[in-house]
Amino acid sequence: MKRLMVIDMQRDFVDEDGVLYSPDAAAVIGPVARIIGEYTAANLPIVATRDWHDPDDKEFERFPPHCVANTPGARFTAAVEEAFGNYENLHIINKTRYSAFFGTDLEGLLEKLKPELVEVVGVATNICVLHTVEELRNRDIPVRVHSEAVGSFDPEGHVFALKHMEAVLGAEIVK
Ligand SMILES: [Zn+2]
Repeated sequence: MKRLMVIDMQRDFVDEDGVLYSPDAAAVIGPVARIIGEYTAANLPIVATRDWHDPDDKEFERFPPHCVANTPGARFTAAVEEAFGNYENLHIINKTRYSAFFGTDLEGLLEKLKPELVEVVGVATNICVLHTVEELRNRDIPVRVHSEAVGSFDPEGHVFALKHMEAVLGAEIVK
């Protein structure tokens, strides 16, 4: 059966007062919430990742401090929080790097969830979405990326990443 991965739909990325907000990332909130709704209605497992940094994370040498653990900016954006509600088939993965596999128990979780297909939505297309899809494909897990439900502050990076995921990583890209 298919499983959904929702990447980093957090306030610091998609809310107007977020540290790394961009309108192109915020534009995916509606499509992401709709797809979450399809999964909760069908009672299918959802894995949601959160960027989850210590205050002195090395990543802050490249990006302004964002998604510091247990701060408001690290919370899911309101529409996504609402779409999740108290869904019992939701698995949250806190991560410190672009790939949701690095330093997390995602590998073990996927062994339990046994996905025949992982559908991927969220932000940013060319960073955490790309690096997580790469790792899924390394494990020969079929991946479908919803192009209207992934977004980035970097429009060129967004287009590159979609092409790369399709042509090089063998992911299916759908609208
Ligand atoms: Zn980060």
